[in-house]
Amino acid sequence: MKKLFFIVVFLFLAIPLFASEYTVSYVNSSRKDHLQIYQLQNRSYIDIYDLTRVLEARLDINPNLQIIDFTIFNKKCRFFFDNKWVKFGKKNYNLYNNIKIQDGNFYIPKYFLNLCANKFFPDRVVFNNNRIIVNLTAMEQYLIKRIVIDPGHGGKDPGAVGKYLKLKEKDVVLNIAKKVKELLEKNLDVTVLLTREDDRFVSLGDRTEFANNHQADLFVSIHCNASRNTRANGTEVYYLSPAKTTEARAVEALENDAIRFEDPESIKRYTDLDFILYDMRQSEYLIESIDLTEMCQKSLVKELGTKDKGVKHANFYVLRGAFMPAVLVEVAFLSNKWEEQKLQHKDFQNRAAKSIYKSIKQFKEKYDKMN
Ligand SMILES: [Zn+2]
Repeated sequence: MKKLFFIVVFLFLAIPLFASEYTVSYVNSSRKDHLQIYQLQNRSYIDIYDLTRVLEARLDINPNLQIIDFTIFNKKCRFFFDNKWVKFGKKNYNLYNNIKIQDGNFYIPKYFLNLCANKFFPDRVVFNNNRIIVNLTAMEQYLIKRIVIDPGHGGKDPGAVGKYLKLKEKDVVLNIAKKVKELLEKNLDVTVLLTREDDRFVSLGDRTEFANNHQADLFVSIHCNASRNTRANGTEVYYLSPAKTTEARAVEALENDAIRFEDPESIKRYTDLDFILYDMRQSEYLIESIDLTEMCQKSLVKELGTKDKGVKHANFYVLRGAFMPAVLVEVAFLSNKWEEQKLQHKDFQNRAAKSIYKSIKQFKEKYDKMN
């Protein structure tokens, strides 16, 4: 009787022990693993470092922004410190308990596994009876396959207009964009889409929406610069970030000015934008965007012999809604007499296109290799 009592007590004590660990197995693999479950304030949690290993995920913790980016199967889940929401794609999902940080460890609610299995990766993660089955085979790779090239302005919005030859930005950038597309499709295994193929007006919001809808891996907006100072010249490439210098602010104002041509409805849409959220979405690709910006800047200056005005950051509407690495190129100044002359020439336009193409090629080779 006494013996039986001990067995019962032992089983009773042992159940939580057994239950506190999940076995992990992998499809088409002999690999085995386990995932520890932690009880924090009577709630079940998993250590994010354990989950990183088990799912072969990538973890980026940003203490300043208080966010944790967790990339599983090349898709990003974003957690926020002491917060019960996880962002996946464009939606937020409730984890019902806050993320906990303890002794340098990050604990996420166990419920996250249910979301992975039922919502996020149903074909990758199966989760039942304390068993997790993970399918790591034939992982989709993040490769740069689809590129959107955005010739700035168009239609009723001419963009900058040269003083001497009355050269219009919208025409120059369309020529360059078409050439970039041609070079990319001829030499790389990519699909290239233009936000406009002819002289038509496209709203700023529609440009990034186009890129998002086509699930582009890269967004490159092409422009020509203008300044009150007619001596200003050279090449600038921008990535998105709140503008810092007055000069960057001026360029920002110039490009954002295209909104003036849009209908009141879409203007309202912009003013209603949750700027912080949009900036955050774009900042997911900040490192990649800066990288492409630098490559593009170097390539253009080298090929065109223009003045290197350096890599800049400004808060362009046209980059703000893009959920992918995105840059904005200002090839040269239409407000400068000499550069307007250059911009007029097919050869100069083709060389600008060639340098943009080269930097995209370099970027693609680098990021494709990382996968
Ligand atoms: Zn422009």
